[in-house]
Amino acid sequence: MARIIKLILLGAPGAGKGTQAEIISEKYAIPAISTGAIIREAIQNGTEMGLSAKSYIESGALVPDEVVIGIIKDRLAQSDCENGFILDGFPRTVPQAAALDKMGVEITDVISIEVPDERILKRMGGRRVCKKCGATFHTEYKPSPNGDKCPCGAELTIRSDDDPAVVAQRLETYHEMTEPLKDFYAQKGLLKIVEGQEELEDTTALTQKALEG
Ligand code: AMP
Repeated sequence: MARIIKLILLGAPGAGKGTQAEIISEKYAIPAISTGAIIREAIQNGTEMGLSAKSYIESGALVPDEVVIGIIKDRLAQSDCENGFILDGFPRTVPQAAALDKMGVEITDVISIEVPDERILKRMGGRRVCKKCGATFHTEYKPSPNGDKCPCGAELTIRSDDDPAVVAQRLETYHEMTEPLKDFYAQKGLLKIVEGQEELEDTTALTQKALEG
């Protein structure tokens, strides 16, 4: 029987975590959990959590630890996580990682997808997201089969936090708050590094190797 995968994907915004999370999710039939997507959905639905998170997201700052820890606690308690999961965008701070430990979650793999900041700044301009179903695309690297529309038929939009000034802020936040997690997981012997490649297939192959090798 295949081993259970409880994977954390680390990496700067735009490094390709979401895309790899989707590919791995399909291959191993385990859910990909994106705190960013959960928060964006809450904002769109106008929930209390969404309203409190909106200003943080829009300025490129992190949503407070207790909010995202609560989101993950609820999500990991759902039955589809029993046979493994992929965390895309959580944890993003050392206290969030410590909270996972405290919950008794036993992570099996941590992969950091590394892409230089300059390349990320260039890439982010092409990102598109479907407002209706949340599917993500890239005009150059992962175009929608339906042109400027999502396969579900809805319009594709640019995330407001993909604005270049906000991206620069998000990168700074990443280096300051999230990069220390590499040491945190290296000390546990879980960290593997994948150099993000120009071609999606190449990054996918390296990520596979990190997971299976
Ligand atoms: P993402 O879609 O992962 O790039 O997340 C978009 C935004 O959601 C981030 O810039 C943060 O404002 C917020 N966010 C997502 N995950 C977290 C997290 N684990 N901790 C704090 N804020 C988060």
